[in-house]
Amino acid sequence: MSEQKDICYLRSVEEPRGVFLPKEKARISPDDRGFYFADGVYEVIRTYFGRFFRLQEHLSRFKNSLAAVRIELPDFSRIPEIAWELLKQNKLEKRDAFIYIQVTRGCWQRNLLFPPKEIIPTLYISVTPIIPPEEEQRKGILAITVPDIRWQRCDIKSIGLLPSVLARQLAYEQNAQEAIFVRNGFLTEGTHTNLFVVKNGTVFTHPLNNHILPGITRSVVLELCRELNLPVSETAVSESELSQVEEVFVTSTTWEIMPVIKINQQTIGLDKPGRITLCLQKEFREYILKFSAPVARSGIV
Ligand code: PMP
Repeated sequence: MSEQKDICYLRSVEEPRGVFLPKEKARISPDDRGFYFADGVYEVIRTYFGRFFRLQEHLSRFKNSLAAVRIELPDFSRIPEIAWELLKQNKLEKRDAFIYIQVTRGCWQRNLLFPPKEIIPTLYISVTPIIPPEEEQRKGILAITVPDIRWQRCDIKSIGLLPSVLARQLAYEQNAQEAIFVRNGFLTEGTHTNLFVVKNGTVFTHPLNNHILPGITRSVVLELCRELNLPVSETAVSESELSQVEEVFVTSTTWEIMPVIKINQQTIGLDKPGRITLCLQKEFREYILKFSAPVARSGIV
């Protein structure tokens, strides 16, 4: 029965019809384009109490990523059904978890050109229970800034994450938990989070364009700000303005709303999570509870 804990789904050249199997038995060929070229995209969807959070938005972002890199996924519409089956098989259907979905351009000899049309993409899906980082959410985290050396299509959720790997490791080595990218003097986003800055009472975040990922949590936070009548501006903030801001927080599916209390060892605001950040955290929690009431089967938040 312990094997049941880590069941994943794989549809690949070896398993063209798709299988649910223990993760340790899953095999992907070295000829997979993901292995050679990071030629693929991914998506992370969260469940609260077994309910998908903002499922449609995640699916539509995933569809956009696939279209942008020209991968056609014939079984795209089966993703929610497979994810739900995985939650059940891993006994997570009533718990908080995240669903990881990765698609690569399939297996073919190493060649930059697309493989022939009949080569189907590889689809891999796994589910993992989430333990929310409650202490960090309460106390806040430290961050550093790093040059944004990523490509010009950060709006695509590409599996090519080397600049983010290097930046996050650098943060870790400097006892910080997140690195914030800076492009042409402006703060774009974190390695796996969107960035919000409160300045003169206004909540600023980078506008949606090719330099950031359109975060789902970002869009929920913007909705909450508007409901609370907080002034909002989707305008980039420069790194040099950081010394004058009241609050900073980052958002993501796994971290939700995470206060940032120091950047490059410089204190932000009062060196503790700010008033607006705390207020948004509370609203976010209430939003989740309101929309995640237990239901007979998985619902959509
Ligand atoms: N930016 C980047 C670069 C990310 O990897 C993520 C995590 N997916 C985010 C922002 C936050 O997006 P979301 O709120 O949809 O998790």
